[in-house]
Amino acid sequence: MYTDTGSWRKMPSPLLSRRFGLAGKPDYVVSHRSGLVPVEIKSGTAPDQPYSSHVVQLAAYCLLIEEEYGFRPPHGFVKYDDVAFEVDYTRGLEEELLATMYLMRQDATAGRSRRSHNSANRCRACGYRADCDQRLK
Ligand code: SF4
Repeated sequence: MYTDTGSWRKMPSPLLSRRFGLAGKPDYVVSHRSGLVPVEIKSGTAPDQPYSSHVVQLAAYCLLIEEEYGFRPPHGFVKYDDVAFEVDYTRGLEEELLATMYLMRQDATAGRSRRSHNSANRCRACGYRADCDQRLK
């Protein structure tokens, strides 16, 4: 993957879509022969398939790249310590992303959002910490 890529650049600021009410910052956007594609780096050894939460996160970055640059990434990469997975950004995956965002907003509006982990370190590094009533000390 690395030898196939062109220049690497760290994102200077989050990508933003007002239309979808979404913002995010991929670890990298790579100028690949197929166009701009996001790369999300995950620590730990790779599972057999990338975790679905990581795939949906990558899809969000694909959507944001399309919104920001007017180019639809054909795929992105989820890279674990030992393996990188190429994930196709299909219409089906986009629909899954939009459905997930819809359900998350419904839960947030109804006050049903609950923390999904017990990692204080994760909360310490979280950008929503100041406003989150679920944060761990
Ligand atoms: S501060 Fe809240 S939103 Fe952030 S990781 Fe912790 S529980 Fe999740």
